[in-house]
Amino acid sequence: MNLTVKVIVGMALGIVVGLAINFSGLNSEGSFVQEFVTGGLFHVVGKMFINALNMMVVPLVLFSLICGVCGIGDIKLLGKIGSKSFGFYILTTAVAIASAILIAGGLGIGEGMNASSSTTFTGRDAPPLSDVLINIIPTNPINAMAQGEMLSIIFFAILFGISLLLVGKKATKLIELIEILNEAMMKMVTIIMALAPYAVFCLLAKAMAELGVELFTQLIGYVLVLAGVLLFHLFVTLLIFLKAFSGLSPRIFLKKIRNVQVFAFSTSSSNATIPVTLRTVTERMGVNNSVASFTVPFGATINMDGTAIMQGVATVFIANMYGVELGIAGYLTVIMMSVLASIGTAGVPGVGLIMLSMVFAQVGLPLEGIGLILGVDRLLDMLRTAVNVSGDAVVSLVVAKSEGKLDEDVFNNENLENSDT
Ligand code: ASP
Repeated sequence: MNLTVKVIVGMALGIVVGLAINFSGLNSEGSFVQEFVTGGLFHVVGKMFINALNMMVVPLVLFSLICGVCGIGDIKLLGKIGSKSFGFYILTTAVAIASAILIAGGLGIGEGMNASSSTTFTGRDAPPLSDVLINIIPTNPINAMAQGEMLSIIFFAILFGISLLLVGKKATKLIELIEILNEAMMKMVTIIMALAPYAVFCLLAKAMAELGVELFTQLIGYVLVLAGVLLFHLFVTLLIFLKAFSGLSPRIFLKKIRNVQVFAFSTSSSNATIPVTLRTVTERMGVNNSVASFTVPFGATINMDGTAIMQGVATVFIANMYGVELGIAGYLTVIMMSVLASIGTAGVPGVGLIMLSMVFAQVGLPLEGIGLILGVDRLLDMLRTAVNVSGDAVVSLVVAKSEGKLDEDVFNNENLENSDT
């Protein structure tokens, strides 16, 4: 069995075991299963794996991006890649949320439902755009790395790469050294990936065992519409986008992206998935590192199509429930706010709800409405994160293709999907 198949088997078994524990009621508070299995073994193994993924993110992004910049060697081209990917990321996110609002609005979800919420939710105000912009430039790069502030790290790495190029010949040795460091980090990804099937099993078994299944039945309309729009975006919008802008085969894309989606689904974090996305996009899809080293971490931070969809559906659902008429202007504000909120918000579990509170505050929807959907958000977070990372990969391919930085032989080689290295 190759690694991809093993990971998928781990995922399937995890879901089955988790649901079995859930339905049998074995996971009750203080029980043996809860203490030693789901809260013990599964929790520890799963968390260790997520830590290992996160451990690789900062050095990997730093080294690969410096290598990428030095590899391009052309500052103008760098600017083009940057502005193109930014434009595509914003475009796909805006299309995602607009389609969510249209579909959810058309179906009238939440109308006539009782809006009583027992769970409170404390939100956060949107950081002013000026702060987001200012904070892109770190006052202390070491601190930015310690905090994992992705946009600041990207900024520093690009500037450092450009500076190395300007140093010229003398810097060759250092660039070679950074290339070796980058290669070593990629090897580390391979090592840690070998443990993935077991870790994915534990993560999913724990998540499924802890799902509040009865909550799903109460919110079934919201869950189904949201899952439907997420799948629509994944299998229709993104694939049309890929085909239209790059001419690449959606079938091969879907086959090769599976691995990344499973990781995103299991960890609920685009950030923790960066090592896997980067490896898949470069080694299996043929995107040159000079493009992927920028588009992947940048996308994990600013591009959240799935999260935007959740925000669109949740806004319609809660506005209808509370009988608030947002009107076209209100929904346009929602679209703009969601896109802005996603910039500068890292791809970590549950961040979508925090962003939703920023959107609600802006259009005057009650924050306690978020308390209503809190209980079912865990599973939906997994789904939307898988959509988020797929969007990052699509844009990486489109930008690479348009700049002549895509090796189509690698992309079309379906055997590569099965290799473990
Ligand atoms: N978990 C998502 C991500 O990492 C963000 C969110 O929607 O909460 O991409």
